[in-house]
Amino acid sequence: MRSHLLNDLTAEHYRRSVTEGVERVAAKLGTTGRPFTGVTVDALAPRIEQIDLDRPLHDTTAALDELEEVYLRDAVYFHHPRYLAHLNCPVVIPAVLGEAVLSAVNSSLDTWDQSAGGTLIERRLVDWTAARIGLGPAADGVFTSGGTQSNLQALLLAREESKPGQAGWESGVNPGKLRVFASEVSHFSVKKSAKLLGLGADSVVSIPVDHDKRMQTVALAHELERCRRDGLVPMAVVATAGTTDFGSIDPLPEIAELCARHDVWMHVDAAYGCGLLASRKYRDRIDGIERADSVTVDYHKSFFQPVSSSAVLVRDAATLRHATYHAEYLNPRRMVHERIPNQVDKSLQTTRRFDALKLWMTLRVMGADGIGELFDEVCDLAAEGWQLLAADPRFDVVVEPTLSTLVFRCIPAAVTDPAEIDRANLYARRALFASGDAVVAGTKVDGRHYLKFTLLNPETTTADIAAVLDLIAGHAEQYLGESLDRAS
Ligand SMILES: *Cc1c(COP(=O)(O)O)cnc(C)c1O
Repeated sequence: MRSHLLNDLTAEHYRRSVTEGVERVAAKLGTTGRPFTGVTVDALAPRIEQIDLDRPLHDTTAALDELEEVYLRDAVYFHHPRYLAHLNCPVVIPAVLGEAVLSAVNSSLDTWDQSAGGTLIERRLVDWTAARIGLGPAADGVFTSGGTQSNLQALLLAREESKPGQAGWESGVNPGKLRVFASEVSHFSVKKSAKLLGLGADSVVSIPVDHDKRMQTVALAHELERCRRDGLVPMAVVATAGTTDFGSIDPLPEIAELCARHDVWMHVDAAYGCGLLASRKYRDRIDGIERADSVTVDYHKSFFQPVSSSAVLVRDAATLRHATYHAEYLNPRRMVHERIPNQVDKSLQTTRRFDALKLWMTLRVMGADGIGELFDEVCDLAAEGWQLLAADPRFDVVVEPTLSTLVFRCIPAAVTDPAEIDRANLYARRALFASGDAVVAGTKVDGRHYLKFTLLNPETTTADIAAVLDLIAGHAEQYLGESLDRAS
């Protein structure tokens, strides 16, 4: 069994095994004609269930053959130009190479003595990102598992920072008085974080959005004033730079003004919009982000990185102390004075992947402009898709895109019942998924069912968009035809 341990004696076995796996995936890329096979849970589950995990195959090739059956054949492939659903990107090769290296070396970024250069590389990338945002000389941050964790950590820091000297803050922790302000289309991780942080059920104040799905700052100002009047403590405003549903960007400069005036922590959730940090063409769309106290970036969304790769950045490195705990066996306090860089002092995680290596390889091979140009392409594609939709009487499209998302619905000419239109769109999405021809997402707007394209693949063309719209319209028509048959 020792032949399976990666070491000097097994280097050749390692090379052959990994190459064999890479060959399978490479072959797959050449032969996937659809983003998905349409396999159902009922068809796939027994194949996975029947495998006896206590009877190993003792053979890499056989295990890969089996993997073909249980995973590779029916996986959902984000590299396919007709995968248009969620915030998943096709990945860039330098990052995949980084992934292969980091998992083989298996550094853990909690302490210097488990990573050495890995720690310094991560720190350089944190500084690089903070500089791109414009957070100033005292900025810092840390890589995280994703936007959810980044938002949680940012709100933890905001909660701790909201205590001293704040009006309405009595001695001791009174989390029931804290309020977080976020738009009605902000990410659900804001509410989840509030719950984890022990804030009350009413702690997240939902601020309405305007027609373009951007936070209404007049309403925010009003709520901040009301909060103080009611003797409550405004803990943080979460501005979203790229909402998950619409790609809309809240008015960051105005929100920064309000946060400054009310002395409130400003968090910018740029999990999606962070790709603009690398864009020369559209960087100005996130102007104002430099005024944030903390920022969430998901490189695994708009930097074309494999999951997971994310970071939380802060304006003031000192605020990260709220996540610092010392353990004698790991990161004793004296190491701080010895200036030994232990990233665990800044992180919610302990053992932690060297995800930063993927971004490092990407920047060293392609450069930031290379990433920015890919993201610009999908933003331009969304603008073209919007024109297609706006000109097509079969569809109703919600907002002109700021990033790369299109939310729309099919409105068959003969139908006026809104519930029937809902059902036709739900049916179309399901039928498309079952066919595997394309994968699209869905959401609700003003209580009605809509469909969504999240465009993150520069290989997708306007012809793909037009073809998928035809497929959707076809499925919706088919539903309505069958529905008429049912009625008669
Ligand atoms: C995706 C997303 C998140 C959550 O990020 P994960 O990496 O999925 O944990 C948070 N905020 C926004 C706006 C997002 O789009």
